[in-house]
Amino acid sequence: MSTDRPQARRRIGVMGGTFDPIHNGHLVAASEVAHRFSLHEVIFVPTGRPWQKLGEDEGSGPEDVDQPRSVGQRDSVDPRSEDDQRSKEVSPAEDRYLMTVIATASNPRFSVSRVDIDREGNTYTVDTLRDLNATLPDAELFFITGADALESILSWQNWEELFELANFIGVSRPGYELNASHLSQHLQDLPPETLQMLEIPALAISSTECRARAAHGRPVWYLVPDGVVQYIAKRRLYRPLRSNSARVSA
Ligand code: ATP
Repeated sequence: MSTDRPQARRRIGVMGGTFDPIHNGHLVAASEVAHRFSLHEVIFVPTGRPWQKLGEDEGSGPEDVDQPRSVGQRDSVDPRSEDDQRSKEVSPAEDRYLMTVIATASNPRFSVSRVDIDREGNTYTVDTLRDLNATLPDAELFFITGADALESILSWQNWEELFELANFIGVSRPGYELNASHLSQHLQDLPPETLQMLEIPALAISSTECRARAAHGRPVWYLVPDGVVQYIAKRRLYRPLRSNSARVSA
């Protein structure tokens, strides 16, 4: 039997990130947005090419990157030491992808996309959203981003197109202001449904801190899912360069 009513579009969240490693702050953000915005699913999209490192080593400008990693901003460890420099490099894409698969496996609404990992070149969110829209033509996309990343969104490539490709949900993050009136006028002028804010439970966790803890032999249990703790230990991620005395406590 056919019906004249148009099919509702599937509401799909997109959680982009470096996920080096994925931690419980990411998972809570995705879960909260899924609940509050009645999303059918959330797709986690690990970034591809480690542009953060290129940006630092080869002097690329901010126009070369999206969602810049705030190196050192939340890192309480002396950034001059060799070990800590190591803890700021980007792990292989396959490791970040697999950790994301492990972390999301228990939630039937969560999935992981390789779209950014498999695309050549720097990862730009506009490409992520174009590709997802092309493969999911019946979907309405909701891009989830923390308050820190939201502050820099006007420096992302083709930022105006971003808001045609997806709705954006800015989530609170400890240490950052989530307040529309603090954003650029360009963002404040967007239609209200295009950019919305959501307060979520405050988890003061960052991947930077997880890497630094692992490099110094401090535990990351309960900051990241159990399977991710075990993966970090097994693959010896984030270990210091010059000694093997510091291990992930697993
Ligand atoms: P790093 O410390 O290496 O910069 P990160 O912890 O910020 O990493 P990303 O993978 O860069 O993690 O973040 C992906 C997305 O998740 C970003 O939009 C970021 O703002 C958001 N996010 C990360 N941690 C939190 C958190 N604790 N609470 C809310 N949002 C978060």
